[in-house]
Amino acid sequence: MRTLLIATYEMGRQPFGLASPAAWLRRAGIEVECADVSRAPLTAAALAQADTIGFYLPMHTATRLALQLLPRVRQAAPSARLCAFGLYAPIHADTLRAAGVNAVLGPEFESELVDFARAQLHAQPSTALPRLQFTLPDRSGLPPLEQYARLEMPDGGARISGYTEASRGCKHRCRHCPIVPVYNGQFRIVDAETVLADVRQQVERGAEHISFGDPDFLNGPRHALRVVEALHAEHTQLSFDVTIKVEHLLRHAALLPRLRECGCVLITTAVESFDDAVLAKLDKGHTQQDFLEVLALTRRLGLALNPTFVAFTPWTTPASFAHWGETIAAIDLIEHVAPVQYGIRLLIPAGSRLLELDDSAEWLGEYDPAGLSYAWKFNDAATEELCQRVQPAVAAGSRANHSRRQIFADVFHRTAPDPAPQRATIPYLNEPWFC
Ligand code: SF4
Repeated sequence: MRTLLIATYEMGRQPFGLASPAAWLRRAGIEVECADVSRAPLTAAALAQADTIGFYLPMHTATRLALQLLPRVRQAAPSARLCAFGLYAPIHADTLRAAGVNAVLGPEFESELVDFARAQLHAQPSTALPRLQFTLPDRSGLPPLEQYARLEMPDGGARISGYTEASRGCKHRCRHCPIVPVYNGQFRIVDAETVLADVRQQVERGAEHISFGDPDFLNGPRHALRVVEALHAEHTQLSFDVTIKVEHLLRHAALLPRLRECGCVLITTAVESFDDAVLAKLDKGHTQQDFLEVLALTRRLGLALNPTFVAFTPWTTPASFAHWGETIAAIDLIEHVAPVQYGIRLLIPAGSRLLELDDSAEWLGEYDPAGLSYAWKFNDAATEELCQRVQPAVAAGSRANHSRRQIFADVFHRTAPDPAPQRATIPYLNEPWFC
């Protein structure tokens, strides 16, 4: 029995979603090969030897790339049984089956993958979200950490980054979030010992920084604190970054100094919009004022923020877009915002809670299986034209390696003011793609 696990894209991180199931499969006596095709081409030999092939689908882009790869895989391995697993697999189950995938597994997939490889699970895994007892991810056979995204530091240096997950899912139900149709307000903990052992093995392989991929690091604050305190006690020089929602940053403000002391250098936070009406539609649980308080708090503590936004929604107008740019400049946020954020257009996956909005008839179109999302339209042609101008401007500026200030100026047609003199530039992961 030989299983090939394929990752197509995960924002430049060494995929936990291959390393974790590889450990489960090997423990069950199944031979495993891992192929991260974002880093090395898939070989004909790997396909020819596989009895089962699993596609790891943690995000939209990964799913689109896997669908492009599927015909080649089917042709090269006609007798292999194919499955898809990870967050986006159940969301796009129908499309994946129509493309030739035999089984669609859930987001907590490790045990189901073992059953599938043993031919004990066919097309219909359980719909309940299992509670797994995680085992140490097996990262052998994956490209070295040096080949993945690095943390660029303000002093011009770069840190080799590892990646792990201390939890999956989320206890919140924001309307636009792809996690909600699958986890529906639930999250699952990876036990602290497993997380720490995974960090340890990555430090031994050169990691100087760890990115935690938890959808929200403070869904379980006691677990989070236990992990980072133990991490810091063992690796005093190791830095890390996490994702935490605005609401949690305010509610758990007392924990932030401790996160900083333990090595946290960057917090990604999904701000989404500076328009409170849009934030209410997205059911984000915060307002613009809340974000301003978080910004002031993190600046006082010396914690860098990486705010993310959904630039183009059905409620965006040229005036609101311009106001957004003015606000980013006014609060000295230009250096914090990855330019890709200026062109992000809302994705509405199957099962999205956005479908429940009262005004959806005004902007919602048909589901587009090729695009893996619902079509939707702006209120007016001017916003569509704006979006069509901004997205290529961001792409061109990024390709040309322009600075964040330069791309901001190109996008908003205004001069980027100089940063406050005391303001340090912030660290960032050099893989600028978020969906
Ligand atoms: S808090 Fe973040 S991860 Fe959780 S549902 Fe909202 S957007 Fe998704």
